[in-house]
Amino acid sequence: MIKFANVTKEYDDGFQAVKSLSFEIEKGELLVLIGPSGSGKSTTMKMINRIIPHSSGTITIGGKDIKSYKVSELRRNIGYVIQQIGLFPHYTIEKNIAIVPQLKGWDKEDIKVRVIELLEMVGLDPEVHMNRYPKELSGGQQQRVGIARALASNPEIILMDEPFSALDPLTREQLQAELITLHKKLKKTIVFVTHDIDEALKMGDRIAIMKDGKILQLDTPEKLLHDP
Ligand code: ADP
Ligand code: ADP
Repeated sequence: MIKFANVTKEYDDGFQAVKSLSFEIEKGELLVLIGPSGSGKSTTMKMINRIIPHSSGTITIGGKDIKSYKVSELRRNIGYVIQQIGLFPHYTIEKNIAIVPQLKGWDKEDIKVRVIELLEMVGLDPEVHMNRYPKELSGGQQQRVGIARALASNPEIILMDEPFSALDPLTREQLQAELITLHKKLKKTIVFVTHDIDEALKMGDRIAIMKDGKILQLDTPEKLLHDP
């Protein structure tokens, strides 16, 4: 589904954050990128939706070079969830979730139906939460909205950059379990960045261990635990 071939990212200061990376993310899998801070996880993920342009090598999605897509088109078709949530504070929850469907020109009524469906999917009550503003929700609820927003236009790919790191342990565990259930149901291709090994083992269909801009090992949790 997503293929990296000899992908390197060199920042303006000459630092190579990702070094000739080649690997493949399969359709429908939840791939975890794990590694210490600075190992290149975020850079790797953000190259997929071109928030960070790669310096050399080729990234393809469904066999097509990502450089052949318009950036706006690429981003609209890839859900993105980050740690700091990034909801628009002056938009209601409904409006926050509706952003991408509106950009895509969906019918107003269809969007409303979709927002309600999404809120239910992530365990929020549409009647209670739809017309509230982000600051009127708890951190965990806001993160749920972030996930709903990423799913809104039904993208095949979702990128999640430490989505649960800012949450308290209990909420975090809840959301991990919910995401696993959601992933089983929707079968989206998910790339999930974390530096928490327990989270990686729990969530990942496969886990890529990164260090110094390279992938040291890429395997299922079972394999990683039993023949490291
Ligand atoms: P991780 O997500 O694993 O913490 P990052 O991908 O954020 O790692 O960063 C990898 C390395 O690239 C780090 O050493 C970081 O300091 C460096 N880096 C990230 N962004 C930039 C930038 N814009 N300019 C220069 N170096 C950067
Ligand atoms: P993350 O939690 O995603 O690893 P960081 O704290 O490493 O984030 O980086 C936050 C932002 O600062 C990112 O957009 C990253 O690209 C940028 N950044 C990180 N390291 C550097 C650096 N050495 N020089 C310039 N920008 C950097």
